[in-house]
Amino acid sequence: MEMKTSLPRIEYCSECQVGIMRDRVATYYTWIGEEIITVPDFPCTICDVCGRREWDENAIHNLKVILRPNIDGIIGGRGRIKPAKETGKKRPRRVSR
Ligand SMILES: [Zn+2]
Repeated sequence: MEMKTSLPRIEYCSECQVGIMRDRVATYYTWIGEEIITVPDFPCTICDVCGRREWDENAIHNLKVILRPNIDGIIGGRGRIKPAKETGKKRPRRVSR
């Protein structure tokens, strides 16, 4: 199985245009209601010149999926709990003749 990742490994910073975004981990902060959630060792890329951080989209998506039940608990919402399981995108392709 191959993933479609044809993106080049070197990515220049969109902020300063000269720095290179390097894969790092940092502590990610996000607010949920009035609670601040910190996630240590969160994958991101950090510019080696200006220090701009860009968080890994997939990681953020996963984090939201993980946090969703807790978000309901923290905010106190009820009745909107959806199953936060991985949405299977794998669909067996069947060719019917
Ligand atoms: Zn930069």
